[in-house]
This record gives sequence, C-alpha cells and structure tokens, in this order.
Amino acid sequence: MHGLLVAAIICALVSGPEKIIPRPASYRTGEKTFVYDGKVKEVKASRSFARQVDKLGIPDFARDEAYALEVTPKGVTINALTDKGLFRGRTSLDMMLEYGDTLRCCSILDWPRFAHRGLLLDESRHFRGKDYILKELDQMSKLKMSVLHLHFTDGAGWRFQTEKYPLLATRGGWRIGDTYKQWEYYGYNFGCEGDGYSYGGYFTKDDLREIVKYASERYITVVPEIEMPGHSIEVVKTYPETACLAPDGSRVMNHSVCPGSEATFELFQAVIDEVVDIFPGKYIHIGGDECNKSAWRNCPACRRRMEEKGIKDVNGLQSYLVQRMERYVNSKGRSIIGWDEILEGGLAPNATVMSWRGTAGGKQAVAMDHDVIMVPTSRCYLDYYQDAPVFEPEAIGSAYLPCERVYSYDPGRDFSEQDIHHVLGLQGNLWCEFIPTVAKAEYMLYPRAFAIAEIGWSPQEVRDWKEFRPRAIDYIEVIKSHGYNAFDLSAEKGNRDEMYKRLDHLAKGRPLTFNKPYDKGYHGSWDVTLNDGLFGSWEFPDDRWLGFRDGVDVTIDLGEVKDLHYVGGSFWAHAPEAICPPEKVEVWLSDDGNDWHLAGYRIREIPDAAKDIMVVELTVPLVDKGRYVRFKALRRDLPECKLMFLDEVIVL
Ligand SMILES: [Zn+2]
Repeated sequence: MHGLLVAAIICALVSGPEKIIPRPASYRTGEKTFVYDGKVKEVKASRSFARQVDKLGIPDFARDEAYALEVTPKGVTINALTDKGLFRGRTSLDMMLEYGDTLRCCSILDWPRFAHRGLLLDESRHFRGKDYILKELDQMSKLKMSVLHLHFTDGAGWRFQTEKYPLLATRGGWRIGDTYKQWEYYGYNFGCEGDGYSYGGYFTKDDLREIVKYASERYITVVPEIEMPGHSIEVVKTYPETACLAPDGSRVMNHSVCPGSEATFELFQAVIDEVVDIFPGKYIHIGGDECNKSAWRNCPACRRRMEEKGIKDVNGLQSYLVQRMERYVNSKGRSIIGWDEILEGGLAPNATVMSWRGTAGGKQAVAMDHDVIMVPTSRCYLDYYQDAPVFEPEAIGSAYLPCERVYSYDPGRDFSEQDIHHVLGLQGNLWCEFIPTVAKAEYMLYPRAFAIAEIGWSPQEVRDWKEFRPRAIDYIEVIKSHGYNAFDLSAEKGNRDEMYKRLDHLAKGRPLTFNKPYDKGYHGSWDVTLNDGLFGSWEFPDDRWLGFRDGVDVTIDLGEVKDLHYVGGSFWAHAPEAICPPEKVEVWLSDDGNDWHLAGYRIREIPDAAKDIMVVELTVPLVDKGRYVRFKALRRDLPECKLMFLDEVIVL
C-alpha cells in the first residue's frame, strides 16, 4: 500500500514530452528517468544530425528550427543545425521542466509545419505599452511562435513615434474617449499629448528597438502594420492634406486617406522610411482592409488620378495606392503583406495576402502564385467569445469561438499538396476594441493561443483535441503561476445546453404559415427553423435562429383540436447589435382558423437597456384547447431595435 502510494507520487512528478505545447512532430519515451542537473549538451550542425534532417525530408524553411532532444539516464543532449534550432530544443526542455525536475527518458525529433506562427496584438484600440508586449513575447517564445504582428496604427490611435510627421503620435495617439466605444460615441476626435484629458500613448523608437531586440533574441520577427488607406482617421485628422476633397473644396474627415493626393504618399513613404530603420524583418504589413471609398468618387484629386492613370473604379484606386506603396517598400528591400481586400482591383505583384474573410481570399491568391497567411475569422479571431456569451465578459458582436473550434482548424485543408508551400502559416488575431487591459487581453489569448501555436507547429496527423485539452489545462496552471491571466478551460461551459436537445412537441413538423415574413438574410434553416424540434446554439446566427425585421407572427395547424398547456420560445438579445427581444408575446387559438381568441400573453420583464447578450425565454402557460395556434412576438418600435431572433415555437 505504502509502496504503491510512493510510486504514484513519483509517477505524477515525472515530466516528459507529452507535456509539450506545441506537440512535437515525433517522440519516443522510455521507462527510465533522469533528474535534471542543470546541464545540457548542445551540439550544433553535426553531420549525423544533418543527415537525419535530410533523410526525414524536412522542408527547407523548417531546417533551421529542427532539433533533436535526448534525455537519457546520463543527461540531456540537444542537436540542431543552427542556434535557432538549439533554442527551440531548449524551449521544449524548459516546458518539460515546468512540471518537475524528474524527466522521463525520451527522444524527441521535432520541426515546424509552417514558418509563420503568429499573434496579432492590437495596440491601437487600447494602448498597453512595451512591458505588455515583452511579457506576451515571452509566452509566444515558449509556444515556439515566430511572428508578432504589431497592429499599432489604426483610427483609434497611432502608436508609432515618427520624426517627420510627429503629430501622428502626439495628436493621433491621443484620442477623446478612454475606451474605443467612447471614442466612437464622441465622434472620433483627438486631443494631444499632455492635455490631461485625452487617452493614449505611443511606442517611442527606443521602445520599439527594445521590442524588436527582445523578440529576435527569441527568434520572433515583428511585423509592423502601417494601416492604409482605410482605418486611417487618425492620419486624416492630424494631417488634413491626406484627406479627400469634397466638391465644395472642404476636406472630408472620414476614415480613409486620399489616394489622389501626393501628400498621402509623401506621408506614408516617410513613415515607411522610419519603419524599415527600426524593424529588420522582411515584411511590412500595409493593411488595406475595410476601406470606405465613398469620398473617393467625388474627390477632385481622386478623379484626376483616375483619369490620368486610366483607372475605372474606386477599387482600382485602392489597387493603385497599394501597388505604388508596394513598389516603395520593395525599393527598400522589403515585401508587403495586406489583408485580403488587396485582391480587389488587382493584386500588387509581390504581395503576401492575409486571408481573413474566410479562406477564399487565400485560395484566390495562391491560384495567382502568391504567398498567403491564413487568419479566417471563424477560427483565428481571438476577440470572439470563447465560452457561453451570456456568462463571458464583453467580446465582439455575438461571435462564438471556443478553443476547440480554433484547434479544429487545419490551414492545409483548403490547398493541394503542390500549393501548400504558398501557405506561410497562420496567426491568432486579438483585436482590442473591447479589450482595454492586459488581464483581459491575456484572458482572451490563453489558451486559444496555445491552439494557434500547435496548429502552426505540429503535423496535422499528431493533433487531437482530446489529447490537447488536458495538456492545455495543465499549461494554463503553469502560466498562471508565472503571472499570466487565462481562461479556465477546465470550467468551460460549452455550447448552449439546449442545442443538444431534440424536443417532440405538438407543433413539430406541422404546417406553419408566416403571417409576417422572416428576413432572408437570417434564414436559419428556412421555414422549418421554428418547428423542427431543435434549439439555437451560441453560434449565432446559425441555422437554428430565424431573424425577423417586424416581429414574429406565425400560425401552426396542429391537425385537430388539442388540449394545450404551454406555448413559447427563446429570443436572442444583444442591444449593441440592435437585436432586441419582443416587448410582448401573444398566443391566439382557434378551432377552425376563423374564430380566434387571445388565450394568453406574456410581457417581457427585463429592461431595454441591457447591453449583454441574453437568451430571453418568453412562454405562456395555458389551460385551453385549439387546432390552430397563432404566436405573435411584438417588436418594440424603436430605431435601435432592428432585429428579432427566435429559435423554436414550442407547443405543449
Ligand atoms: Zn481623394
């Protein structure tokens, strides 16, 4: 008994390769153990290891990160071709040691699947500064990530100190409104540094040099994003010569810079000059997404540009700007990355495309022989809810992206074997409109960033959610002990309970008439959505939720007169998206479809102003009978209540 207990304790304290995130490409474990003595034998570029790498057919980009790690009863040895490979090997060793000094004897042979394994940190929408970036770089390094995409110029704040255009940071980095929402509410305005009431800050050049150095010591490349021509109101408002002209000659202060104005190019080229001076990596991201081009149509400068260059439409004008900026960036020996909108109007010749609106942009770019980085929103947007939205802190919209869903992504799935070399990798994007603090940023990042790291590093065939989940839960405890915040995956509530249920009720499958139409844009599973016995999930709006513009009014024919006890349904509510629950539901009954009586109603009791996501159940208990059931959900007649969503009309 005693002996067994001791054995169990020893067993629990033995660590090994099964603990490592991202999971190694291959490993074997033995019976024996070794108590780590603080010594590692590192062997660089041995012929035998080079032969091993050749034999395995490890792709060129992955060779310098490949390593072999041996733990024997005598000690630890790491083999690699480069210092970078040795570093990755030590990282694996360090992660095993997080769980104790006694290591299982093992042999790990490991290399990455993709070169680009990244995180996007958004310091524009909220600014946390250098120490936060360094802290997350530490964690990225432990997860063997290779790219930090620094999103530090956007409408809500320019966070890059520039010499030639200093106001970008000292005014464009200081907005009116502490939160992104307040800034929107107050009309997208800016104060200036030191005025005592503006929110903001920016990275100094020294900060950025320190970040770049810290990252490169961990073999992480920083990709700076200089966002243009959309998401640029901070540029337009601080240097109005970059704004479009209205026909009356005034400047248009919207979110897009003017591609007809030479001042725009002068500004961005000067910024690029300073960017290449600080960031040594190959890539500069130039944005290109979600550009509002409305002012371009009427701007005399834009029209002149279109005439001179024979450009047909405003998409062509965006393409002109991107291609011209690409030439400039290329002249500095660098390459551009852009969001997939840069495909519209003609792709710049050497651009790498970041495919975010699903995977179609990535596929299109690869078909044109371009490199891509895959960041589809449905798998890689870490600002989405990671658990039941009704219990989680505010995230963006109603989007639901649990860790398992992230983990299920395989960036190779959409590409043939001969095209896969164009897929540089993937990254998790942490947009921060609703994420003001370090604690909340980390809560949203971890453990989903573990999943991103493993997708990027580990071969698809060794990945398994059931095996990953407990490993991630263990590692959450580790990072918490190092002062990180994280979502508690072990306490995940998961998808909405009701979505797993099938309910047989009196209305199920019966003929149903829509007295008011539903919105074809939110058609769920079309007509049957409301009486298929299935309930909505958190993956809103999915095929279980039916959307209405003018309230619900449906009639169900039960086939014969029946005793009725209950009619009701559940409504999705989220005021910031103008999705409101009904003010009242009514149940009308008839035996013949002509003669109706109001059998009961229910008034909603929760307030209008509720800002959180809610599922509001409105049911009417009855002691009555009828063949025809008419269920009405009455809309609040307010402009801020545009939509109503219902999953099922239950009749019992
Ligand atoms: Zn213009």
